[in-house]
Amino acid sequence: MKTIGLIGGMSAESTTVYYQLINRLVRERLGGLHSARLLIWSLDFAPIAALQAAGDWATAGAVLADAARRLEGAGAEAILIGANTMHLVADQVAAAVQVPLIHIGDATAAALEAIGSRRPLLLGTRFTMEMGFYRDRLAARGIEALIPDEADRARLHAIIYDELCQAVISPASRAEVLAIIAKAAGADAVIFACTEIGLLLSPDDLSLPVVDTAIVHAQAGVDFSLG
Ligand code: GLU
Repeated sequence: MKTIGLIGGMSAESTTVYYQLINRLVRERLGGLHSARLLIWSLDFAPIAALQAAGDWATAGAVLADAARRLEGAGAEAILIGANTMHLVADQVAAAVQVPLIHIGDATAAALEAIGSRRPLLLGTRFTMEMGFYRDRLAARGIEALIPDEADRARLHAIIYDELCQAVISPASRAEVLAIIAKAAGADAVIFACTEIGLLLSPDDLSLPVVDTAIVHAQAGVDFSLG
């Protein structure tokens, strides 16, 4: 079993999901008392979020690159960035280490391909929905991601930072996000492209198929680890 290095804390609420999923998947595959060989470098999210808001991606990327180097130095054989948004600096992080970076966008594209989705609705932070780094990676594989309108993107972004990343799970916000999804004409799937959305919504809440990026990314990490 290879050792996974997870850059966590973005937010800590979803890092716990990764930790649990990765360990459960290893136990399911190997049985008995097996669990993952896993290192987590968990960042303080407040300064990262401030750098995101200021558009200072170079400094945020340097913080994550430093985390990746520390994980590699401690024995990690692959790096996972446990968030969609911070994949904006994935190239900077990958360049800082010799071991591979397992990209959340690639795991997501593979999951969409497996269910035959070509026009999924992308739900995430404003950065993930609007800045292209994520949609372009899907587009390169022939997947055209749809996004909510401006007002709905702003609301979703606020729910992620003000609620989900702070462990606030609100039934009213759940209903709002379901209403946003219901408006998406022509979508053939929904991507939870924020690693906290699975804390608010379950695939059972939706009639469309769901790709939860935290789940498929954790699975990709375990696939690498177990070979
Ligand atoms: N975890 C979230 C994501 O998957 C949002 C927090 C962040 O901006 O990193 O994008």
